[in-house]
Amino acid sequence: MKKFLLYLVAALIILSALLRYSLEFEGMQDTAQDQMVRALMRQNTGGIPNPDGLRVFMCGTASPLGLGRAQACVAILTPSHFYLIDVGAGAAEEIQRANLPVQRLQGVLLTHFHSDHIAELYEVNLASWVRGRPEPLKIFGPKGVRAVVKGINDTYALDRGYRMTHHGEELLPEHLGILRHETIDEATVLEDGDLSIKAYIAEHHPASPALGYRVEYRGRSVVISGDSNVTPVTAIASQGADLLLHDALSLPLVTGMAEAAEQAELTRLSKILYDVTDYHASVQSLIELNDKVDIGMVGYYHLVPVPATIVQRKFFERNLPDNYVVTDDGDWFELPSNSDEIKHIRP
Ligand SMILES: [Zn+2]
Ligand SMILES: [Zn+2]
Repeated sequence: MKKFLLYLVAALIILSALLRYSLEFEGMQDTAQDQMVRALMRQNTGGIPNPDGLRVFMCGTASPLGLGRAQACVAILTPSHFYLIDVGAGAAEEIQRANLPVQRLQGVLLTHFHSDHIAELYEVNLASWVRGRPEPLKIFGPKGVRAVVKGINDTYALDRGYRMTHHGEELLPEHLGILRHETIDEATVLEDGDLSIKAYIAEHHPASPALGYRVEYRGRSVVISGDSNVTPVTAIASQGADLLLHDALSLPLVTGMAEAAEQAELTRLSKILYDVTDYHASVQSLIELNDKVDIGMVGYYHLVPVPATIVQRKFFERNLPDNYVVTDDGDWFELPSNSDEIKHIRP
């Protein structure tokens, strides 16, 4: 038996070496590439499973402080709805990697206009336009959204023209490539069938007004903070929610970095790090929220700083209540309709 296993292992090693060697030949490269691209196209037409309920995808969990993750982006999906909340740098790639159905993207809700929340608006617009989105993409946001959308439309006017000329107006009608805007405030409730999205005021001075959003669908609810301190308004907006996704700052990590920068005479960096601490929710304030408000699950995102090591991640996990998680790019939350179940699926 032992001898047989040895022969088997040796045969597998030889087989894998032969396979690897065969890829040196163009004929084998063509065959392998052909198989891969066919599988990819089948995946693109098949779409993702679509059970009835609210599904949340983390397409970006980073703040500007750190590397290795996409910046703020949360996707909200039901069988007949698809909205994005913020689209920071790297988010378009995460959306593509997860094969989200961008052809039915209905809108992007911006929480505020810091670059890490709007950087890839046009990338998402382009990807959904190319995939056949039937209506112009609508960008919702607080006062200021008009100027942001106008700027993007102007900046990419030549790009739109090139693509339309190259592929034909029938395939890429120009009006579907031009973003529309709608200014909203804390009194706004967007109703779309069984889905409703209500804005609330976030505290992120001087980026004001800034908004958070509460999404409701068939008995389930998700609150997305954008960038904000925890305030009494946060508590009201989160009361009874199934899931709260909140920006989270580790005060010991950021102040430690600021002090180290000061000692190294990196005074500009040190000042910026200290400044950052006053307009994001500290992990401590989020844990305290758990005692005041009834929330099913809390997910930290927009991590300040982005944990670069296991040790740094542990800072975010200190005293973490049982119903709290630190999210990563590619995480899913599934909230089946009219139930209490919350599934957190890691990639
Ligand atoms: Zn931010
Ligand atoms: Zn911000």
